[in-house]
Amino acid sequence: MRISLVCLLVLIDMGNLFAQTGSLQGMLFNRITKQGFSASAQIWFPDLDLGTLSEPDGSFKIYNIPIGVYRLNIKSIGFRDTTIMQVKITSGQATSVNINFPIGCHFNNQKGNECPYCKKQDATIPIVYGFPSNRVMQRAKHNKLKLGGCVTTGCDPHWYCKRDERDF
Ligand SMILES: [Zn+2]
Repeated sequence: MRISLVCLLVLIDMGNLFAQTGSLQGMLFNRITKQGFSASAQIWFPDLDLGTLSEPDGSFKIYNIPIGVYRLNIKSIGFRDTTIMQVKITSGQATSVNINFPIGCHFNNQKGNECPYCKKQDATIPIVYGFPSNRVMQRAKHNKLKLGGCVTTGCDPHWYCKRDERDF
């Protein structure tokens, strides 16, 4: 009986040796609405191949992360991928992060088709996304619109100013 108890204690200690892990908890916020991000997002440590999906209220939690400093990727269909650099995981208390998603989006505050650079609308054409039809191709050829490509994110520009040659 005594021997098995000693063995058990040793095993527990061994377990602690390998338990150098921490956890991450946080909230994902929609950068535009400031509400919890309600669409499902993948929260992922690419260097560890470890992650989770966010809850409908935007919260998430990842357990059993080896301690260290990592990049954290956030992906959701229709939104620009976002990477948080240097997320530090320590043993014991969970690391807490609040993330505005997507980060680095500069086009969403624009209202209407007035160019923010020249303050006029006369040189503005719409940007059209997706696979272009023949009609769209013709209009693009005549500079009636600009082709935006097939990949869209949550923060694509909607207008192009031909005078300033800039998207907004
Ligand atoms: Zn302009």
